[in-house]
Amino acid sequence: MSSLKENIPQLLKEVKEHTIVQFIEKLCAEYAAAVAFSTSFGWEDQAISHFIFSEKLPARVFTLDTGRNFPETYSTWNATNERYGVKIEASFPKSKAVQNLLAEKGPLSFYESVANRKECCYIRKVEPLARALKDVKIWITGIRAEQSEGRSEMQQIEWDEAHQCIKYHPLFYWKFDEVKAFITANNIPYNPLHDRGFPSVGCQPCTRAVRPGEDFRAGRWWWEDTSKKECGLHTDEVKDNFAI
Ligand code: SF4
Repeated sequence: MSSLKENIPQLLKEVKEHTIVQFIEKLCAEYAAAVAFSTSFGWEDQAISHFIFSEKLPARVFTLDTGRNFPETYSTWNATNERYGVKIEASFPKSKAVQNLLAEKGPLSFYESVANRKECCYIRKVEPLARALKDVKIWITGIRAEQSEGRSEMQQIEWDEAHQCIKYHPLFYWKFDEVKAFITANNIPYNPLHDRGFPSVGCQPCTRAVRPGEDFRAGRWWWEDTSKKECGLHTDEVKDNFAI
């Protein structure tokens, strides 16, 4: 067990005694430059960005630019930069890997099989995330407990084996309505696709609007079996299939 992992029980106690801003501040003081927040500009991520940027917390903020994002996601990224006077950094896929994928399989290979989809997710998301998290000790994410069945078994602070870091989910206990009310009350820029039936926004070719009553993840990789829907960012699934 690494010494970093051993800090989790203490952090789980401390997180209850602090506000989100205080706790991120504390993490930044204790882990210096090794605290990073990954944003995809969804509802939850925008709320966390607001905490970090409006309080000028020294956490690093980055996004994964897969090259296949919606124009609305880039607009939200830009609006966030402008609102807070920041430049959110991007982690891009390796150009050689994308070139090889396109040359060998074309631009829409992910529709052909789960293996092809995971390969594309690996090249455009999983590997760039692993690179962005290199040397990171605390990874802040926008995950909420109610977001999916598997995720409800998680803890607010937990060990991430794949990236050998501690994950902290500040909005873990928030309900969706609380997140939305927070966004509205603070006039935080958000992805306009959320108002057009996209509760979860990923890459453009792999995300559709959901119908009333559908699960929020029904719009992601909708052509696949529901049990295969994780992209590998928060699981070891893709890592197991493709060596990092
Ligand atoms: Fe590729 Fe789709 Fe995965 Fe984006 S979500 S990385 S386009 S397979």
